[in-house]
Amino acid sequence: MDAGVITEPTFRESVDMMFNRAVALMELPPGLEDKIRVCNSTYMVRFGVKLRGSIHTFTGYRSVHSEHMEPVKGGIRYSLGVNQDEVEALAALMTYKCALVETPFGGSKGGLCIDPRQYDEDELERITRRFAYELAKRHLIDPAQNVPAPDMGTGEREMAWIADQYARMNTTDINAKACVTGKPPHAGGIQGRVEATGRGVQYALQEFFRHPEDIAAAGLSGTLDGKRVVVQGLGNVGYHAAKFLREEDGSIVTGIIERDGALVSDDGIDVEAVHKWIANHGGVKGFPDATFIEDGASVLEKDCDILVPAALEGVINLGNAARVTAPLIIEAANGPVTAGADEILRNKGTVIIPDMYANAGGVTVSYFEWVKNLSHIRFGRMQRRQEEARHLLIVDELQRLSDNLGDAWSMTGDFKDKYLRGAGELELVRSGLDDTMRSAYQAMREVWHGRDDVSDLRTAAYIVSISRVADSYRAKGL
Ligand code: NAD
Repeated sequence: MDAGVITEPTFRESVDMMFNRAVALMELPPGLEDKIRVCNSTYMVRFGVKLRGSIHTFTGYRSVHSEHMEPVKGGIRYSLGVNQDEVEALAALMTYKCALVETPFGGSKGGLCIDPRQYDEDELERITRRFAYELAKRHLIDPAQNVPAPDMGTGEREMAWIADQYARMNTTDINAKACVTGKPPHAGGIQGRVEATGRGVQYALQEFFRHPEDIAAAGLSGTLDGKRVVVQGLGNVGYHAAKFLREEDGSIVTGIIERDGALVSDDGIDVEAVHKWIANHGGVKGFPDATFIEDGASVLEKDCDILVPAALEGVINLGNAARVTAPLIIEAANGPVTAGADEILRNKGTVIIPDMYANAGGVTVSYFEWVKNLSHIRFGRMQRRQEEARHLLIVDELQRLSDNLGDAWSMTGDFKDKYLRGAGELELVRSGLDDTMRSAYQAMREVWHGRDDVSDLRTAAYIVSISRVADSYRAKGL
């Protein structure tokens, strides 16, 4: 290799470099820094499944980064890019993410080296069940020890297969459903989990825009309304984030980057229509109401207010960071900005809302699902009607007052209907998620603005989460 050529670190090295940057500013007891940084274990398995008349061999991983709290938690990814370095980096991020949003889990991650688009549903079920069997028999799927969730290339369907496979192997485990989260609601899931990560991205941005000092730090002003957003990856996370920002916050989606290229339109792109187009055509090419750009990645450099990388890691790197102009980047994907790119962007004054916070909505609602499975009751089932009955007392009193006052006063518009409706599971999940995203942001920003030696949200996020993990190790006597 030429002397002087700066090479990009691997994903795992990138995460370690960001970790090191933060611990250099902390005073941890000797040895604890290393204990927290290292990945405790990575299990690699090769297994065969008979498909189309021959045996196909697959390689899968489950990495456990930290067991300072159990179970450990983290998604299972299906992608040809899966490798040990990647799962370990993602498992480490899970440790920090869970600590930051105060979910009582350690960090883990899994992956299967596969292109799921090459297999039909029946084949994928057999492959998934076999992978789940390999992990469950080693307690790498277990309600008390290791609880997976969806990630890139997997969703509700795969989680339902995993839950069923675990239940078949553990017929007397009354908590079997809690062995995995992200299940469909009819199979022990929770309302609002599918959209949770994208919803969390929206709540994160809403919270950011509540703080004038932070908006100014990014060189922006005003609210989310009218902000130009470019999103990369219209999968689970990117689709929901872009849809909610557009439909509920008034943001304008001016760019959508997918595998086969990108769509741009300064007038705004209909996210729902593009999502349907991808489902029917397998890509964005040919979508009639926007301009198609063959070199999708170049659209990461497009002039916009908010860039939402929501596809995969390493997309903003030493090769393009200097040309990325968005003043605010929210890392909906895990690790989209490499450590080298992070430095370039920081020096330019770009504000980055880091992955461990930005996409924590998924694990937060997974936590609610796990609690629901262990308590064997739907959230709100006991309280909803009682809450409605108490609200009715107030509404009846207000009605009486209004009748007595005649034209002088009456209840406004739909107040009565809204106030009378008790919270169901979906409302409670959204409220819990919103609260989590607000509290975690406030913990980060206290460090960001409160310390002279911290100038970015990522370092602040690492400091908050590492100190929580350290406290937990200390409490264990380590
Ligand atoms: P997904 O498989 O549903 O969607 C990924 C999308 O990115 C797909 O539409 C795919 O076509 C697109 N894509 C792939 N390669 C691309 C490329 N080179 N350029 C542009 N687009 C590309 O995955 P997901 O669940 O939405 O996960 C996306 C990211 O979010 C990952 O980094 C994942 O780790 C992270 N994440 C997901 C969750 C979750 O709950 N699903 C939670 C936390 C973090």
